[in-house]
Amino acid sequence: MPRQSSTSIAAIVSQFVDQLSGALEEEALNRAREAVLSAVGGGTRRGPGRPAGPQRGPGRPPGRPRKKPPIQYCPVPGCTNRAAPVFGMLCSEHKGLPKAKVKKYRADRRAEREKAKEKAKT
Ligand SMILES: [Zn+2]
Repeated sequence: MPRQSSTSIAAIVSQFVDQLSGALEEEALNRAREAVLSAVGGGTRRGPGRPAGPQRGPGRPPGRPRKKPPIQYCPVPGCTNRAAPVFGMLCSEHKGLPKAKVKKYRADRRAEREKAKEKAKT
């Protein structure tokens, strides 16, 4: 039983190969042209002095967002300013306060909070 179709398949394949090699050649030419253009400076894809790839600013490593501590307020009674670690967890107004006083304020505040808790419970 002769295989008639095999010859036609071979013809199709060879035709396809011809087309493919032609297309590949064209693409290679295009790429070469592009490369030459961008090397010469005719490329408009990116500006000068700008490196490829994602740029990250200096500082913390990527993928780990900075965890913000809860906002703390100045322990001085009547003061509603926010405390900052640079001021010893006091506000900028009370940063010069002696530590003993601050400690007392904190203790007072804690006692008050405990009292409020007890009240809420009962
Ligand atoms: Zn304060």
